[in-house]
Amino acid sequence: MHEYSVAYDIYATAKRAAEEHNATEVKKIFVDVGEMTMVNPEQVKFLFDVIKEEDPAFHNAILEYRQVAVRVRCACGHEGYEHFVCPECGGMPQITEGREIVVANIEIEVDDDES
Ligand SMILES: [Zn+2]
Repeated sequence: MHEYSVAYDIYATAKRAAEEHNATEVKKIFVDVGEMTMVNPEQVKFLFDVIKEEDPAFHNAILEYRQVAVRVRCACGHEGYEHFVCPECGGMPQITEGREIVVANIEIEVDDDES
């Protein structure tokens, strides 16, 4: 089940970032969803909600999705959005962005014990 590993990856990435910043609570996780991602974002959200039940720091965490357009780069040097045929040389460009689900940012609550 691909969605589960994506959801777990989002959780693990946010967890690592939260620990690095001594966060007491994770409030929002901003996730970039590529246009050509082969996973179902709703399913990921559902599984993420299951995973976060195990971790009190994540109980109020919300996933915020942002769609990311596909970007391609061709061997001829052309870069753009046309992902089937390169408009410059007719070759097949490589997709460089828009195929993944990645954590872009997180919003956390930090325990401020210096005051
Ligand atoms: Zn080309």
